[in-house]
Amino acid sequence: MPASLLDGKRLAETMQTELAAAAEAFFRQHGRKPGLAAVLVGDNPASRIYVRNKRRACEQAGFASWLHELPANALQDDLLRLIAVLNADPAVHGILVQLPLPSQIDEATIIQSVAPRKDVDGFGPENLGLLVAGKPRYLPCTPLGVQQLLVRNGVRLDGAHVVIVGRSNIVGKPLALILMQKAAGANATVTVCHSRSRDLPGLTRQADVLVAAIGQAQFVKADMVRPGAVVVDVGINRVGERGLVGDVDFPAVNQIASAITPVPGGVGPMTITMLLHNTLRAAQAQVAGKK
Ligand code: NAP
Repeated sequence: MPASLLDGKRLAETMQTELAAAAEAFFRQHGRKPGLAAVLVGDNPASRIYVRNKRRACEQAGFASWLHELPANALQDDLLRLIAVLNADPAVHGILVQLPLPSQIDEATIIQSVAPRKDVDGFGPENLGLLVAGKPRYLPCTPLGVQQLLVRNGVRLDGAHVVIVGRSNIVGKPLALILMQKAAGANATVTVCHSRSRDLPGLTRQADVLVAAIGQAQFVKADMVRPGAVVVDVGINRVGERGLVGDVDFPAVNQIASAITPVPGGVGPMTITMLLHNTLRAAQAQVAGKK
Protein backbone atom coordinates (compact mmCIF):
# COMPACT_ATOMS: atom_id res chain seq x y z
CA MET A 1 0.00 0.00 0.00
CA PRO A 2 1.45 3.43 -0.86
CA ALA A 3 2.57 5.68 1.98
CA SER A 4 0.52 8.65 3.05
CA LEU A 5 1.86 11.95 1.76
CA LEU A 6 3.36 14.52 4.10
CA ASP A 7 2.07 17.43 2.06
CA GLY A 8 4.34 20.41 2.72
CA LYS A 9 2.63 22.60 0.17
CA ARG A 10 -0.74 22.32 1.88
CA LEU A 11 0.68 22.75 5.38
CA ALA A 12 2.70 25.76 4.21
CA GLU A 13 -0.49 27.35 2.86
CA THR A 14 -2.25 26.77 6.18
CA MET A 15 0.64 28.17 8.19
CA GLN A 16 1.06 31.16 5.85
CA THR A 17 -2.62 31.99 6.37
CA GLU A 18 -1.98 31.92 10.13
CA LEU A 19 1.10 34.10 9.65
CA ALA A 20 -0.84 36.58 7.50
CA ALA A 21 -3.40 36.99 10.31
CA ALA A 22 -0.59 37.54 12.82
CA ALA A 23 1.12 40.05 10.50
CA GLU A 24 -2.13 41.97 10.17
CA ALA A 25 -2.53 42.07 13.94
CA PHE A 26 1.08 43.31 14.19
CA PHE A 27 0.31 46.05 11.67
CA ARG A 28 -2.82 47.12 13.55
CA GLN A 29 -0.90 47.32 16.80
CA HIS A 30 2.34 48.92 15.61
CA GLY A 31 1.45 50.72 12.36
CA ARG A 32 4.05 48.84 10.33
CA LYS A 33 4.54 45.45 8.79
CA PRO A 34 7.03 42.80 9.83
CA GLY A 35 9.88 43.40 7.34
CA LEU A 36 12.39 41.11 5.68
CA ALA A 37 15.37 42.40 3.68
CA ALA A 38 16.81 39.93 1.19
CA VAL A 39 20.34 40.31 -0.13
CA LEU A 40 21.36 38.70 -3.39
CA VAL A 41 24.96 38.82 -4.59
CA GLY A 42 25.63 37.87 -8.21
CA ASP A 43 23.45 36.13 -10.71
CA ASN A 44 23.08 32.51 -9.60
CA PRO A 45 19.78 31.49 -11.30
CA ALA A 46 18.73 29.09 -8.51
CA SER A 47 19.42 31.76 -5.85
CA ARG A 48 17.37 34.27 -7.83
CA ILE A 49 14.41 31.85 -7.89
CA TYR A 50 14.73 31.13 -4.14
CA VAL A 51 14.80 34.85 -3.30
CA ARG A 52 11.88 35.57 -5.61
CA ASN A 53 9.80 32.82 -3.97
CA LYS A 54 10.66 34.03 -0.47
CA ARG A 55 9.73 37.63 -1.32
CA ARG A 56 6.51 36.53 -2.97
CA ALA A 57 5.51 34.59 0.15
CA CYS A 58 6.32 37.67 2.27
CA GLU A 59 4.14 39.92 0.17
CA GLN A 60 1.24 37.46 0.08
CA ALA A 61 1.31 37.23 3.88
CA GLY A 62 1.35 41.03 4.32
CA PHE A 63 5.02 41.35 5.26
CA ALA A 64 7.22 44.15 3.92
CA SER A 65 10.07 42.86 1.78
CA TRP A 66 13.04 44.52 0.13
CA LEU A 67 15.59 43.12 -2.29
CA HIS A 68 19.16 44.45 -2.25
CA GLU A 69 21.29 43.26 -5.14
CA LEU A 70 25.05 43.43 -5.46
CA PRO A 71 27.03 42.41 -8.56
CA ALA A 72 28.92 39.11 -8.70
CA ASN A 73 32.25 40.98 -8.35
CA ALA A 74 31.15 42.87 -5.21
CA LEU A 75 33.78 43.04 -2.49
CA GLN A 76 33.27 41.60 0.97
CA ASP A 77 33.44 45.13 2.38
CA ASP A 78 30.58 46.26 0.10
CA LEU A 79 28.40 43.49 1.51
CA LEU A 80 29.47 44.21 5.09
CA ARG A 81 28.55 47.88 4.61
CA LEU A 82 25.10 46.94 3.28
CA ILE A 83 24.49 44.56 6.19
CA ALA A 84 25.52 47.29 8.66
CA VAL A 85 22.88 49.61 7.13
CA LEU A 86 20.21 46.89 7.38
CA ASN A 87 21.25 46.02 10.96
CA ALA A 88 20.60 49.66 11.90
CA ASP A 89 17.30 50.07 10.01
CA PRO A 90 14.32 49.75 12.41
CA ALA A 91 11.92 48.86 9.56
CA VAL A 92 14.01 45.76 8.80
CA HIS A 93 13.27 43.02 11.32
CA GLY A 94 14.92 40.14 9.49
CA ILE A 95 17.86 39.88 7.11
CA LEU A 96 18.31 37.07 4.64
CA VAL A 97 21.63 36.81 2.81
CA GLN A 98 21.06 34.26 0.07
CA LEU A 99 23.82 31.64 -0.07
CA PRO A 100 26.07 30.63 -1.76
CA LEU A 101 28.14 33.80 -2.05
CA PRO A 102 30.82 34.42 -4.70
CA SER A 103 34.23 32.98 -3.80
CA GLN A 104 35.86 36.34 -2.94
CA ILE A 105 33.44 36.68 0.00
CA ASP A 106 33.84 34.63 3.18
CA GLU A 107 30.41 33.25 4.09
CA ALA A 108 31.21 32.78 7.78
CA THR A 109 32.26 36.45 8.09
CA ILE A 110 29.03 37.58 6.46
CA ILE A 111 26.82 35.30 8.54
CA GLN A 112 28.47 36.61 11.70
CA SER A 113 27.92 40.22 10.64
CA VAL A 114 24.11 39.95 10.67
CA ALA A 115 22.72 41.26 13.96
CA PRO A 116 21.70 38.16 15.97
CA ARG A 117 18.18 39.59 16.55
CA LYS A 118 17.75 39.94 12.78
CA ASP A 119 19.36 36.58 11.91
CA VAL A 120 16.10 34.97 10.80
CA ASP A 121 17.97 32.23 8.93
CA GLY A 122 19.28 31.16 12.33
CA PHE A 123 22.76 30.45 10.92
CA GLY A 124 24.74 32.88 13.07
CA PRO A 125 26.86 31.69 16.01
CA GLU A 126 24.64 33.31 18.66
CA ASN A 127 21.45 31.65 17.46
CA LEU A 128 23.15 28.29 16.89
CA GLY A 129 24.78 28.57 20.32
CA LEU A 130 21.40 29.22 21.93
CA LEU A 131 20.05 26.10 20.22
CA VAL A 132 22.97 24.02 21.47
CA ALA A 133 22.42 25.40 24.97
CA GLY A 134 18.76 24.35 24.86
CA LYS A 135 17.46 27.96 24.78
CA PRO A 136 16.57 28.34 21.10
CA ARG A 137 15.67 31.76 19.63
CA TYR A 138 15.48 31.52 15.82
CA LEU A 139 15.83 28.02 14.47
CA PRO A 140 17.26 27.46 10.97
CA CYS A 141 14.36 27.40 8.53
CA THR A 142 14.74 24.08 6.72
CA PRO A 143 15.19 21.92 9.85
CA LEU A 144 12.43 23.83 11.64
CA GLY A 145 10.21 23.18 8.62
CA VAL A 146 10.99 19.46 8.81
CA GLN A 147 10.06 19.38 12.50
CA GLN A 148 6.80 21.25 11.88
CA LEU A 149 5.90 18.97 8.98
CA LEU A 150 6.33 15.93 11.23
CA VAL A 151 4.63 17.38 14.31
CA ARG A 152 1.66 18.85 12.47
CA ASN A 153 1.09 15.52 10.72
CA GLY A 154 0.96 13.73 14.05
CA VAL A 155 4.27 11.88 13.69
CA ARG A 156 5.39 10.99 17.20
CA LEU A 157 8.99 12.10 17.77
CA ASP A 158 9.15 11.56 21.52
CA GLY A 159 11.37 8.50 21.99
CA ALA A 160 11.52 7.80 18.26
CA HIS A 161 14.79 6.91 16.53
CA VAL A 162 15.43 9.56 13.88
CA VAL A 163 18.25 8.84 11.45
CA ILE A 164 19.49 11.84 9.47
CA VAL A 165 21.72 11.34 6.43
CA GLY A 166 23.71 14.56 6.02
CA ARG A 167 25.57 16.73 8.55
CA SER A 168 25.62 20.15 6.89
CA ASN A 169 25.46 23.30 9.00
CA ILE A 170 22.19 24.33 7.37
CA VAL A 171 20.24 21.07 7.46
CA GLY A 172 21.55 17.88 9.08
CA LYS A 173 23.41 19.29 12.07
CA PRO A 174 20.77 21.80 13.27
CA LEU A 175 17.99 19.28 12.61
CA ALA A 176 19.72 16.82 14.94
CA LEU A 177 19.95 19.54 17.61
CA ILE A 178 16.30 20.49 17.19
CA LEU A 179 14.96 16.93 17.38
CA MET A 180 17.09 15.90 20.35
CA GLN A 181 15.96 18.86 22.46
CA LYS A 182 14.26 18.13 25.77
CA ALA A 183 11.03 19.69 24.53
CA ALA A 184 7.63 18.96 23.10
CA GLY A 185 7.83 17.97 19.43
CA ALA A 186 11.34 16.64 19.98
CA ASN A 187 12.86 14.22 22.56
CA ALA A 188 13.99 11.96 19.72
CA THR A 189 16.99 9.65 19.74
CA VAL A 190 19.02 10.98 16.83
CA THR A 191 21.68 9.34 14.68
CA VAL A 192 23.52 11.54 12.17
CA CYS A 193 25.17 9.82 9.19
CA HIS A 194 27.50 11.20 6.51
CA SER A 195 29.80 10.12 3.73
CA ARG A 196 32.19 8.39 6.16
CA SER A 197 29.52 6.40 7.99
CA ARG A 198 30.13 2.66 7.92
CA ASP A 199 27.23 0.41 6.83
CA LEU A 200 24.89 3.27 5.95
CA PRO A 201 21.97 0.96 4.95
CA GLY A 202 22.31 -0.82 8.30
CA LEU A 203 21.95 2.53 10.06
CA THR A 204 19.12 3.90 7.94
CA ARG A 205 17.12 0.68 8.37
CA GLN A 206 17.01 1.35 12.13
CA ALA A 207 15.08 4.58 11.63
CA ASP A 208 11.52 5.17 12.77
CA VAL A 209 11.93 8.49 10.96
CA LEU A 210 14.52 8.73 8.17
CA VAL A 211 15.62 12.15 6.89
CA ALA A 212 17.65 12.42 3.69
CA ALA A 213 19.65 15.67 3.28
CA ILE A 214 22.41 14.50 0.98
CA GLY A 215 22.18 16.30 -2.35
CA GLN A 216 22.29 13.15 -4.52
CA ALA A 217 19.31 12.29 -6.68
CA GLN A 218 17.35 9.23 -5.50
CA PHE A 219 20.19 8.02 -3.27
CA VAL A 220 17.95 6.37 -0.66
CA LYS A 221 16.62 3.11 -2.07
CA ALA A 222 13.83 0.91 -0.72
CA ASP A 223 16.29 -1.56 0.83
CA MET A 224 17.63 1.26 3.04
CA VAL A 225 14.24 1.86 4.65
CA ARG A 226 12.50 -0.14 7.37
CA PRO A 227 8.94 -1.03 6.32
CA GLY A 228 6.56 1.39 8.01
CA ALA A 229 9.16 4.13 8.57
CA VAL A 230 8.37 7.82 8.01
CA VAL A 231 10.63 9.29 5.32
CA VAL A 232 11.47 12.98 4.89
CA ASP A 233 13.27 14.02 1.72
CA VAL A 234 15.08 17.36 2.01
CA GLY A 235 16.98 16.97 -1.27
CA ILE A 236 16.41 19.14 -4.30
CA ASN A 237 18.25 17.87 -7.36
CA ARG A 238 17.77 19.08 -10.91
CA VAL A 239 17.94 16.06 -13.22
CA GLY A 240 17.74 16.93 -16.93
CA GLU A 241 14.33 16.37 -18.47
CA ARG A 242 12.87 14.98 -15.23
CA GLY A 243 13.16 18.32 -13.49
CA LEU A 244 13.34 18.26 -9.71
CA VAL A 245 13.87 15.05 -7.79
CA GLY A 246 14.73 14.43 -4.17
CA ASP A 247 17.39 12.34 -2.43
CA VAL A 248 14.92 9.45 -2.05
CA ASP A 249 13.86 6.97 -4.72
CA PHE A 250 10.25 8.04 -4.27
CA PRO A 251 8.41 5.42 -6.40
CA ALA A 252 10.09 2.50 -4.61
CA VAL A 253 10.22 3.92 -1.07
CA ASN A 254 6.61 5.09 -1.33
CA GLN A 255 5.63 1.39 -1.41
CA ILE A 256 7.15 0.55 1.97
CA ALA A 257 7.17 3.74 4.05
CA SER A 258 4.15 4.64 6.17
CA ALA A 259 4.45 8.34 5.27
CA ILE A 260 6.72 10.27 2.92
CA THR A 261 7.33 13.81 1.67
CA PRO A 262 7.08 14.50 -2.06
CA VAL A 263 9.66 16.55 -4.00
CA PRO A 264 8.66 19.16 -4.94
CA GLY A 265 5.90 20.07 -2.49
CA GLY A 266 7.41 18.66 0.71
CA VAL A 267 10.14 20.38 2.69
CA GLY A 268 10.74 23.27 0.25
CA PRO A 269 7.51 25.23 0.92
CA MET A 270 7.99 24.68 4.66
CA THR A 271 11.42 26.33 4.54
CA ILE A 272 9.94 29.54 3.16
CA THR A 273 7.13 29.46 5.70
CA MET A 274 9.59 29.18 8.59
CA LEU A 275 11.43 32.23 7.28
CA LEU A 276 8.19 34.20 7.65
CA HIS A 277 7.64 32.66 11.08
CA ASN A 278 11.10 33.77 12.23
CA THR A 279 10.66 37.25 10.72
CA LEU A 280 7.38 37.75 12.56
CA ARG A 281 8.98 36.65 15.83
CA ALA A 282 11.92 38.98 15.18
CA ALA A 283 9.52 41.88 14.56
CA GLN A 284 7.59 41.13 17.75
CA ALA A 285 10.79 40.90 19.79
CA GLN A 286 12.19 44.12 18.32
CA VAL A 287 9.09 46.22 19.00
CA ALA A 288 9.00 44.78 22.51
CA GLY A 289 12.49 46.27 22.91
CA LYS A 290 14.37 42.98 23.15
CA LYS A 291 17.13 44.20 20.87
P1 NAP B 1 25.67 19.53 1.72
O1 NAP B 1 26.19 20.70 2.49
O2 NAP B 1 26.31 19.17 0.42
O3 NAP B 1 25.74 18.25 2.70
C1 NAP B 1 25.43 16.98 2.22
C2 NAP B 1 25.63 15.97 3.32
O4 NAP B 1 25.36 14.68 2.78
C3 NAP B 1 27.06 15.93 3.88
O5 NAP B 1 27.04 15.82 5.26
C4 NAP B 1 27.65 14.70 3.22
O6 NAP B 1 28.62 14.02 4.02
C5 NAP B 1 26.43 13.80 3.08
N1 NAP B 1 26.65 12.86 2.02
C6 NAP B 1 26.98 13.12 0.73
N2 NAP B 1 27.13 11.98 0.05
C7 NAP B 1 26.89 10.96 0.91
C8 NAP B 1 26.90 9.56 0.83
N3 NAP B 1 27.21 8.92 -0.31
N4 NAP B 1 26.58 8.83 1.92
C9 NAP B 1 26.29 9.45 3.08
N5 NAP B 1 26.27 10.79 3.24
C10 NAP B 1 26.56 11.54 2.17
O7 NAP B 1 24.12 19.66 1.41
P2 NAP B 1 22.96 20.47 2.18
O8 NAP B 1 23.17 21.92 1.99
O9 NAP B 1 22.75 19.92 3.54
O10 NAP B 1 21.72 20.05 1.26
C11 NAP B 1 21.32 18.70 1.13
C12 NAP B 1 20.21 18.63 0.10
O11 NAP B 1 19.09 19.36 0.61
C13 NAP B 1 20.53 19.27 -1.25
O12 NAP B 1 19.86 18.54 -2.27
C14 NAP B 1 19.94 20.66 -1.14
O13 NAP B 1 19.58 21.20 -2.39
C15 NAP B 1 18.71 20.36 -0.32
N6 NAP B 1 18.20 21.50 0.45
C16 NAP B 1 16.87 21.70 0.41
C17 NAP B 1 16.32 22.73 1.13
C18 NAP B 1 14.84 22.92 1.09
O14 NAP B 1 14.35 23.97 1.45
N7 NAP B 1 14.09 21.89 0.70
C19 NAP B 1 17.12 23.58 1.90
C20 NAP B 1 18.50 23.31 1.96
C21 NAP B 1 19.03 22.26 1.23
P3 NAP B 1 30.05 14.71 4.38
O15 NAP B 1 29.73 15.74 5.44
O16 NAP B 1 30.84 13.58 4.92
O17 NAP B 1 30.57 15.31 3.12
